[in-house]
Amino acid sequence: MAAARDFSKPYRVDDGSKFRLKDFDPGDGSGLKSKKHAEKELLGGIERLSELQDKLYAQDRWAILLIFQAMDAAGKDGAIKHVMSGVNPQGCQVYSFKQPSAEELNHDFLWRTSKCVPERGRIGIFNRSYYEEVLVVRVHKELLDNERTPPSLVTKNIWNERFADINSYERYLWRNGVVIRKFFLNLSKEEQKKRFLSRLEEPVKNWKFSASDVAERERWHEYMTAYEEMIQHTATAHAPWYVVPADKKWYSRLVVADAIVSALEDLNLHYPVVSAAKRKELKAARVALEHEGYH
Ligand code: ATP
Ligand code: MG
Repeated sequence: MAAARDFSKPYRVDDGSKFRLKDFDPGDGSGLKSKKHAEKELLGGIERLSELQDKLYAQDRWAILLIFQAMDAAGKDGAIKHVMSGVNPQGCQVYSFKQPSAEELNHDFLWRTSKCVPERGRIGIFNRSYYEEVLVVRVHKELLDNERTPPSLVTKNIWNERFADINSYERYLWRNGVVIRKFFLNLSKEEQKKRFLSRLEEPVKNWKFSASDVAERERWHEYMTAYEEMIQHTATAHAPWYVVPADKKWYSRLVVADAIVSALEDLNLHYPVVSAAKRKELKAARVALEHEGYH
């Protein structure tokens, strides 16, 4: 059978130094003819993911950390739900990071997420993450004051220092067997407007709407600059960013699924080899089971 096409490849950024957001089209669908076509491809990806996750869990060596960042209504929740629909919930942990609590603000900025890094054999998902520090906190500089960092440490280099700290942290995790893949769901401003309007118009979607979402939208340009610089500084070969076209939900889900499959395939996972002693044990158990009731 021919190897399945990897739809995630064109959106992977391993080296941020030349990254420009304008080179990535939020409306891209890479020539896929229809939603139906993408859904078929996605099902294949989900099935493959499920097989690979089983091996990841059995082998119990590597951990996978998937980070999702995006503007509101870009489809983070839906992407997570669909892509992970085939995986065993026991091997998967999802954490959402909202405005930090008082306790969280009393610690360094990596503290709250560090506690949630997945164990070996598991897939961990961060719905928002420590990257909020160089996104919302950068756009709303007053949030930095809430963090109670000693003022002498908050200089004009703060953002470069944050990038450097994030890179060191991710390299540290990688060296400890945590494979990181980061997803920026790249939504256009026009599509966000459409989705906000449907949240206002359709009663079952009303709950998803928050007035603050519109306020953040007014700072779209500042956010895009923050995203661009974030990717420029933190896209690395061991922790790449995927700039996922997000205007077509069915396409973004496919890209995310393929990226995860590709990360797992790179690990060359296999079920643990059964030792001679273990084989003997299995044989004895089988004999005991087969003779059950004959005594
Ligand atoms: P939904 O899709 O349901 O809107 P959400 O992830 O947007 O989910 P919200 O409760 O709407 O969840 O928003 C969480 C908010 O918390 C976001 O605006 C985000 O920017 C903010 N936030 C996350 N981390 C931090 C942080 N470290 N400092 C300040 N604000 C943060
Ligand atoms: Mg929100």
